[in-house]
Amino acid sequence: MIELKNASQFEKMRKAGKIVADTLALMREVAKPGVTTLELDRKAEDYIRAQGAVPAFKGYNGFPATLCTSLNEQVVHGIPGLRSLESGDIISIDCGAVIDGYFGDAAVTLPVGEVDEDLLKLLKVTEESLMFGIAEAKTGNRLYDVSHAVQKHVEANGFSVVRDYVGHGIGRAMHEDPQIPNFGKPGRGPRLEIGMALAIEPMVNMGTYEVLTLKDHWTVVTKDMKPSAHFEHTVAITENGLEILTRC
Ligand code: MG
Ligand code: MG
Repeated sequence: MIELKNASQFEKMRKAGKIVADTLALMREVAKPGVTTLELDRKAEDYIRAQGAVPAFKGYNGFPATLCTSLNEQVVHGIPGLRSLESGDIISIDCGAVIDGYFGDAAVTLPVGEVDEDLLKLLKVTEESLMFGIAEAKTGNRLYDVSHAVQKHVEANGFSVVRDYVGHGIGRAMHEDPQIPNFGKPGRGPRLEIGMALAIEPMVNMGTYEVLTLKDHWTVVTKDMKPSAHFEHTVAITENGLEILTRC
């Protein structure tokens, strides 16, 4: 895992994080009924490259796009394509960028047009669980304090956390140690220390936590085809406390 030892490294992580955050803010404006996920992807790629950065997902293990766009029952890793957004959909948009050798990674799930109340609750609880997890990412705590905080809030609201995909350390590579599950017992795992950069990313299902991968070898869906949401931030533990590098 990366250990950010000096101001210049923090600055580079901030820069990468801001580009990702600004890309997602742009997506929030353009993700409206009638727009295809491929159009979202092109806009995101153009924006990232205009900042002098490179999309981090494109080409990663052969992934063909800048964004992962995951609709409704799709959990993560959906491939942008010709499907248009429709009112009532929820869409998870996951974005990564690299600049000067440092990575940022974040995700949001957006409602499209008019969305049912139960879906809005799923989005709200998932984002809240991310923030509860982030609040535990501080020196003196252990990693699974983060995991436990996420799980507790999700399950208290009757939803489930995906087991098969987890958050991760981040820095000079998109995926670094440690893995950060969204479930676990508090007081366990590595001790959190100044200089750590983490991508915390709850994936929350309305029904079962079990998931399947479609035949495209990428798109992950819920086993019961019920909706799923995903929120992610890249954060750094600094001398002055926790900093959310991808805050929009
Ligand atoms: Mg991500
Ligand atoms: Mg990630």
